Order: sequence, then structure tokens, then C-alpha cells
Amino acid sequence: MTFIEEPSRKTPILTETDVLVLGGGPAGLAAALAAAREGVDTMLVERYGCFGGVITQAMIGTIAWYRYANTVDAGGIGLEFETIAKNMEGSINIFGNIKNKDMIKTLEQEGLIVNGEPTYEVLDTEVFKHIADKLVQDANITPLLHCTAVDVIMEDQTIKGVITESKSGRQAIMAKRIIDATGDADIAFHSGVPFRKSPKNDLMEVTVNWGCSGINIGKFLMYVYLNPSSIGDWGETSGKEESSFTTYLVEPFNKAKVAGEIPKDVDIESFWTNYTDAGEITSFNGIHMTNIDPTDVWDLTKAEIEGRKRVLWAVEALKKYTPGFKKARLRSIGASLGTRESRKILGEYEITDHDVRNQARFEDSIGICPEFIDGYGIAIMPTTGRYFQVPYGIIVPQKVENLLVAGRCVAGDKISHAATRQMCCCIVTGQGAGVAAAVSIKDNVSCMQVSISKVQEALKKQGVRID
Ligand SMILES: Cc1cc2nc3c(=O)[nH]c(=O)nc-3n(C[C@H](O)[C@H](O)[C@H](O)COP(=O)(O)OP(=O)(O)OC[C@H]3O[C@@H](n4cnc5c(N)ncnc54)[C@H](O)[C@@H]3O)c2cc1C
Repeated sequence: MTFIEEPSRKTPILTETDVLVLGGGPAGLAAALAAAREGVDTMLVERYGCFGGVITQAMIGTIAWYRYANTVDAGGIGLEFETIAKNMEGSINIFGNIKNKDMIKTLEQEGLIVNGEPTYEVLDTEVFKHIADKLVQDANITPLLHCTAVDVIMEDQTIKGVITESKSGRQAIMAKRIIDATGDADIAFHSGVPFRKSPKNDLMEVTVNWGCSGINIGKFLMYVYLNPSSIGDWGETSGKEESSFTTYLVEPFNKAKVAGEIPKDVDIESFWTNYTDAGEITSFNGIHMTNIDPTDVWDLTKAEIEGRKRVLWAVEALKKYTPGFKKARLRSIGASLGTRESRKILGEYEITDHDVRNQARFEDSIGICPEFIDGYGIAIMPTTGRYFQVPYGIIVPQKVENLLVAGRCVAGDKISHAATRQMCCCIVTGQGAGVAAAVSIKDNVSCMQVSISKVQEALKKQGVRID
């Protein structure tokens, strides 16, 4: 690589705040809400035009699809997202329109319908854009959209501020505590925090999502009923979830491959995650592209363009080979591709495969997560009450004193990532980071030295289950 030398320049300070959260996905939203609710000045900065991260940019509303009758849940802001969405008609009861009694019985037996109610609803990802705005405004958080964090201002082991770029130019935001919820650990990276990133051919795939309208939902559901898919069809299970119902769809794409309409080596296998009375399925999670580094702008560009091409193939296959899709139309493509894995910080503690599979318990717990592992070909669902505690150590990076990291980039080994990347866990680490940042400011101590018992007390008051 060749370089140019930029002239030194003065950068205007846009504003100052107590807690600065970078990235407005599930983790960043939770972090900002939690900090603001502890009474400190909080600012939430997001590079795109709406908050929500993968929820709103990649149209993933299945924040709680893991939930079965016996699942022990985290509580806190994750549950709040679901409740508020339901109250604002911002979620979809995916099982609500099923009329077939046998299918309802199956779902009841599996613990996905309890006393006539579904164990989860799917967020309407368009409405969630507004819900996130409202939550941010109601909590008196200062929002900043269309603004990307590109660098940090370091003094010894402390980040004094973050450099941003936007239509207003290059500006600095000064802060006492920083929470990196960028998904890719951008701030940790710029601060020199040690991190790991698997070689790109080992990283989880990236995905361009799409939605369709014009579907005959009744016909489609009958097809699903007659051709049921189970969790065992797409991953190595622990046995108990092997035959559990799931919204996995692969037959139409395989038929298109046999007919030579989709190249055989292209990975298209979709989860359809909702449907509406208006004849829509607004989220197909089905284009899986590997060998992409989500921190490389060339790779991101290639994947967006290739992904959209594959979406059109997929829609044609749906129309041709899926009952109910004859008159379907492509209606939406995610505003951005969705990333599952990139940089992971090296933290004070590295959560492990063993921890997430064996109900680990930690004295510095900031919350719990049901035993839910989805990734690297493994699919373990929390059909029982098993859960692990989430230790504070995985959000505390090495070296920098006033930085916390939340969301999918927290510290941990390969398989644990298949658990900590789930939105429910990202929200737990976000809420923990927000509260810890606030407590550390009030007590005037570094993030590493914060009193865990005070953090736990505050989290409990915010409705989080700690043990
Ligand atoms: C296709 C797909 C399907 C998935 N399905 C599910 C599912 O069904 N259920 C589930 O629980 N999980 C699912 N996941 C995983 C889950 O959605 C993510 O792991 C989770 O959203 C990560 O949350 P986050 O807040 O850490 O990051 P993100 O959701 O990625 O949010 C990061 C935010 O930071 C912003 N940002 C990034 N860099 C900067 C910067 N430098 N400056 C300012 N802003 C920045 C981004 O624009 C984004 O809004 C899925 C993931 C993908 C990709």
C-alpha cells in the first residue's frame, strides 16, 4: 500500500457528553438507554439514518425467536423492545393466522404456543425505526444520525474524544466514557486495543436480506405444513431440538439449481421470518456469502452487489417453485448487508465454548442469556431452562481505561460467538456497559475498577436478571 501525508489540521469540537455510545444497533441502543436512565448525559451516534442496526438495516425482526415455553430469559431492555413494539402494533404474531389445528397442536407440543399465545412476536422492522427514535428521545439521549466514528483522541490510556465524519465535516465529540457498539469494534481498533479477527475464509457469512409482497399466505402455509422443516435440517443440534419446527426453506432454491437457474455452488437457503395479512413476507434471510471481510470496503461493495443479484435469483425461484408465490413481487432489499462476525476484542475475560454450553456462573455477572447457540453449523435452542451468566470481563477491553465494548464484538472464543452475537446477548452486554459507564463516572473510577455490586444493583433496578 502507498500513502499520502495529510497536513495537520484543527478539528472543531461538536459537543461534549458524559457517555458517548458509538453505533445504534441492539447493543448501542441498550447501552445508551441504560446509561441515560442512570442519570448521566448520554449521546448515541449512528452512521446510517436510523437506529436499530441489523434489525432495521438488514430487516431482522426475530429478536426472540429462540424462546420456548421453558426458556429462562434475560429480562431488561430486550423484553422492553418486544413489549413496546407489541403495544405500538410494531410486531407480528407469526403463528396468529395459522388455522390448521394439527399445525397449532404441533406448535403447542413444541412449546412455541402456550395458552393460545405465541412465545414470541417478530418485530416489524420498519416500525422499529420509529420505536428506537421514541425510546432515545424519551430517555433524553442526544441522538446523532448520519455520523461515522473514524478515529479517537488518545491521552495515555484514556480516550478523550472520538473523531467523526459526516455531512458537517470532520468533528470531535469529547466524552468521559466511551461505549463501542459498532459491531466491528471500530473504536477499540482505533484505540489500539488488542483484538482478534479470524481469516476471512473462517468468518461467518454476510447476508443481503429481502422481502416480498403479493403472496397467497394461506397456500404458502399449507405448503409449509405439508413440507415441514426442522432445526436438524440446518445444523448440528444437541438432539432435543433435532425435530423442532422452524421456518427454514430450501426446496425452491434447490429446484432452481437443478434446473440450472441458480449456480450450484451458490449458498441460498432461507429463513422466512414473518408474514402479514397484506400478503407479505418482509424478511427472507437466505443469501449467505463467505470469504468477505466486513472491515474491508472492497469486500463490502462486492458483497452488496453480488447479494442483490442473488436476491433476484431467489425471488424467481420462489415464484416458480413455491406454492402461493405465483404473483409475488420483490418489495424490499435490506438497506445494508448484515454482518455476523468481524473483530472481537481481547477482554479482561474471554468467554468460551465450554461456558456457553455448560451454564457458566460468574461473580461479575451483568446478566444472563438462555443457552442459545446458532452458528458454525451448530444449532442449540433453549428449549429447557438452561442459561449462562454473562461476565463483565468480556466487555472490558485490555489497555484502555474509559472504554467498554458491547454487542457482537465482545471478547470470546469461536463457538461462544455463536451465542454472544445473538441480539438477546448483545442487549445484555449493551445494558451492562451503559450502567457500568454511568456508575464509573459517578464514583470517579476507571471502567476496570468499577464496583460490580453497584453495577449489579443498578441493573436489577432496571429489570435485568443477574443470577
Ligand atoms: C442476516 C442476519 C440475521 C440474523 N438473525 C438473527 C436473529 O434472527 N436473531 C438474533 O438474535 N440475531 C440474529 N443475528 C445476529 C444479530 O442481529 C447481530 O449479531 C446483532 O444485531 C449485533 O448487534 P450489535 O448492536 O452488536 O451490532 P449491529 O446490529 O451490527 O449494530 C451496529 C451499529 O453500529 C453502526 N456503526 C458501525 N460502525 C460505526 C461507526 N464507525 N460509527 C457510527 N456507527 C457505526 C452500524 O450502522 C449499526 O447500526 C443476525 C445477523 C445477521 C447479519
